[in-house]
Amino acid sequence: DYAVEIEDLAFSHKDGTRALKGINLRIKKGSKTAILGPNGAGKSTLLLHLNGIYLPQHGRVRVMGLEVNRENEKKIRQTVGLVFQDPDDQVFCTTVWEDVAFGPMNFNLPEDEVQRRVKQALRAVRLEGLEQKMPFHLSYGQRKRVAIAGVLALRPEILVLDEPHAFLDPSSKSELMKIMDGINSEGRTIIVATHDVDFAYEWADDVVIIKDGRVLAQGGPDILSEDK
Ligand code: ADP
Ligand code: ADP
Repeated sequence: DYAVEIEDLAFSHKDGTRALKGINLRIKKGSKTAILGPNGAGKSTLLLHLNGIYLPQHGRVRVMGLEVNRENEKKIRQTVGLVFQDPDDQVFCTTVWEDVAFGPMNFNLPEDEVQRRVKQALRAVRLEGLEQKMPFHLSYGQRKRVAIAGVLALRPEILVLDEPHAFLDPSSKSELMKIMDGINSEGRTIIVATHDVDFAYEWADDVVIIKDGRVLAQGGPDILSEDK
């Protein structure tokens, strides 16, 4: 069973840059999948299709069996949570609590349900006790975890992270890896875009290598051992 099915997806940006040139890809439910490729390969453009921020110009994308199109936009946002590379594109409220509560409140969930979700999400990313802090006063790694908590509070079945390790120190990196494994052990699919071969080799159970808008290879982390 697949969390993501992509058929012949092509996409050009407004300035004409052809970022995706016919992507065919399936990602297994419950997997830890790394999408590996150099800068400019098309990783971010691909991820932005998974939760419907970009809609396919050609080909199709399905998430948990749901077609990514304008009609399904709302359901897709609830199914797929996307954590941007830079938390400062995502974390903008006055306090940590408000930031994590923002999504669930937008879904018009009852107050006690919002409370429960925020509490659980902050526990998952180990930020309990910082609810009333201003994100601005936290470290970069902590802001990254606030962004993840905000997405977790939506309870997405698929969690997508763009370069989650960028600019983190080694101890924040290993902490984040533990958090991701905890989320995955609840049965959720995690998809991570990265250019870090060592991270992909160590963390992922499935690796997709993309370059110049195309899939070069997909398989277990062993497909990387020749490069290492
Ligand atoms: P990656 O995430 O692997 O670094 P991207 O998806 O960001 O790759 O970029 C793929 C290609 O699309 C690159 O050539 C990049 O310069 C271009 N690109 C990305 N975003 C935009 C945009 N908003 N407008 C124009 N070109 C873009
Ligand atoms: P900590 O206090 O936990 O060490 P910092 O906030 O000092 O975390 O940031 C850790 C690293 O991330 C530093 O190398 C810093 O330069 C970098 N960094 C901080 N903010 C940003 C940002 N907005 N974009 C890119 N890198 C950043």
